[in-house]
Amino acid sequence: MTSRNPYKRVIVLALDEVPTPVLDVFFASGASSLKAKAVVPTDSAQNWGSVLHGVLPEKHGLRNGDVEAGIPYDENSPYPSVYKLLAQGSDDVKMASYVAWEPINTGIIELSVKVDFYAPLTHENIFWRWWLRFKHHVLKDSVYDRKVVSRVVDYICSPENSDVKLLFVHLTDVDEHGHGHGYGSRPYLNQIKVMDSQIATILEAVDEAGWRDDSLVIMTTDHGGIGRGHGGNSYQEISVFLAVRGISIKPNSKIENEISNMDCAALILKALGKEIPEWFDAKLPTELELLL
Ligand SMILES: [Zn+2]
Ligand SMILES: [Zn+2]
Repeated sequence: MTSRNPYKRVIVLALDEVPTPVLDVFFASGASSLKAKAVVPTDSAQNWGSVLHGVLPEKHGLRNGDVEAGIPYDENSPYPSVYKLLAQGSDDVKMASYVAWEPINTGIIELSVKVDFYAPLTHENIFWRWWLRFKHHVLKDSVYDRKVVSRVVDYICSPENSDVKLLFVHLTDVDEHGHGHGYGSRPYLNQIKVMDSQIATILEAVDEAGWRDDSLVIMTTDHGGIGRGHGGNSYQEISVFLAVRGISIKPNSKIENEISNMDCAALILKALGKEIPEWFDAKLPTELELLL
């Protein structure tokens, strides 16, 4: 069932682990919470799984080891992704997922759903893939995110993609620097600055494409980090942010009630005029319900 809604599309900027001191302008242009919570365990598959399926990890069952081994999401699961829900009842819903961590495309979103997918290690040619791996693993260069950003800018700027309903963009290199050098270390903080300018590049493309007024842009992250890892339930690992910008969202507003990064799934469906399923653990943040 659909309802009236102001948005033609939703764009999710999914930042793999960022405590974000640097996205102030975006935050001020919409509603945000710096006190949002990740789901537990604070790992990527569990959290992106909840963000995209709207249920807690014990329901979607996604785990890093499985998705990294290439196991696809169960097509018979009672907890389908928002991609699958949006595709229901229509053959030609245009959706895209551009990610630095390819298990999102191969293990978290169902393979049966037609999606414009991109990930550096699955969509670049074999020579590029070798070069990207070398730069990533040996030179510790943040090359995956750069590739994703340049490809997603091309995607946004192509007029044939203006009908896209859901665009999920995932960046990973801040988290990689947390694992490599420590969360809060100098290289990690420097990578946050790099990511900040990459987000600016994506948002400029959104403006140039004329998408600003009819897009709801959500920014969130999957988990924090402590030492050189995450997965536990310390404040540093659980504490995340969620920010939303759109024509119906009052600028400079704060989301005071407790929210989860998982609530992203409810926001996506609501903004696109879809009913939020009764099995969802994801909820519409109460303050935003009034504004959407
Ligand atoms: Zn992660
Ligand atoms: Zn990580």
